[in-house]
Amino acid sequence: MQQQHFDLLLKGAMLIGVGPHHDSMARGVIGIRDKRIAWVGEEAPAGATATREMSLGGRIVSPGFINMHYHAGLNFVRGIAPDLGFAPSYTPGLPQASQLRPDEAAALSQLGALEALKAGCTTLVDSFVEADAIAAGMAELGGRLFLSPRLNDVDFAYVLAGKRRFDAERAARMLDSAEAFITRWQGSADGRVHTHLTAHAPDTCSPDFLGAIAALARRHDLKISTHLAQSQDEVDWVQARYACTPVGLLDSLGLLGVDLLAGHCIHVDENDLALIAASATQVVHIPLGNAVSGRFAPTNAMRAKAVALSLATDTMHGDMIEAMRWALAIGRIQQGCVSDDWQPADVLKMATRNGARALGMADQLGSISVGQLADLAIIDTRQAHLTPCIDALGTLVHNGTGRDVEHVIVAGELVVENHRSLRVDEAAVLARAKAATHAVWSRCEPALRPLPEAAFS
Ligand SMILES: [Zn+2]
Repeated sequence: MQQQHFDLLLKGAMLIGVGPHHDSMARGVIGIRDKRIAWVGEEAPAGATATREMSLGGRIVSPGFINMHYHAGLNFVRGIAPDLGFAPSYTPGLPQASQLRPDEAAALSQLGALEALKAGCTTLVDSFVEADAIAAGMAELGGRLFLSPRLNDVDFAYVLAGKRRFDAERAARMLDSAEAFITRWQGSADGRVHTHLTAHAPDTCSPDFLGAIAALARRHDLKISTHLAQSQDEVDWVQARYACTPVGLLDSLGLLGVDLLAGHCIHVDENDLALIAASATQVVHIPLGNAVSGRFAPTNAMRAKAVALSLATDTMHGDMIEAMRWALAIGRIQQGCVSDDWQPADVLKMATRNGARALGMADQLGSISVGQLADLAIIDTRQAHLTPCIDALGTLVHNGTGRDVEHVIVAGELVVENHRSLRVDEAAVLARAKAATHAVWSRCEPALRPLPEAAFS
């Protein structure tokens, strides 16, 4: 029998999310060859050789986390925005993403993508302003990306004043630049950059614009992200204008379905849930972001209807381990008890396998399986808060954080090693993002709170 040679052999770690059923292994070996997982077993194949071996005693290897709804560049309002309202785009008193210059959006987005990658998010589904300017810096980090420009034919200046005014010229301009973006970026960075289309929300996109985005997505076979039923304001505005719910509006426009990645879905009624379930719309659950604004999506009722749920952090942080913990807690709060319905294995699937399915990549991503792309997060449990580690999955979900991720592998390449990016100078990334934050806050109206100069020195 021919000896097997691997590019990278990971030995001695606890494995979670193994195979199609997401089993755990107390001690396992992963062999990686040509970007993919080529071996999973308790031992390496007899006589196997490897270009590099890593001894990972005391570590957990998980499928890389798939963060299904993110805005990497929104970190310039973190620590402030969550205490003022809900989504920054609807919150007066903050500098807005639309006020960022391209280089500033790029600096902030690279920081947000770095934060998420270091926390084990090997795939990020991101939408933001200045998509063309931000893509290269995000891709430079080596993670897998699904990027989209933020598409809205409303002017957010009016939204901040509680009004909506749609602009057909803006819509046409945005569609043209979105198509150019797709052409430029789809499949770039050695196949790690994908594109999708983000229709911002049912109250910030006109029905005509929503229809046009759906047509463009179909032409290019792309997924569509959106914010859906995120606030009572959105529900009330849609009800007053169109005499239906936001979910009903998207249904009438033909947007519901397996290709729609619907973020939030908090304010949904029984009929909305039935429409979501019947159409196989993919719900992206954002447990911590919703909870900080005092709300949660009815995930328990959704799962009872077999609605597909994946997981995301949205804004202000990129830690999917934290998101798993919150998803578990929010599920249990709705039930008022601990049951078999909400266990660590359920939220790990939401953070990995379900995201892969929603992206149409279930055969490529989401588990530690032979043939899948080698996208892995390696967590160091040799720390006080993770000791003893009797059950790897339970310990990770209840006690872990993104900062415990020691190494990150994407397509077989180590992109983070010993908690540091191997692709970029992290200090320079932080410095550029701080300078960008200072610049945009400095340009904003005097009505905003005074800048704490010390934060930028
Ligand atoms: Zn969002």
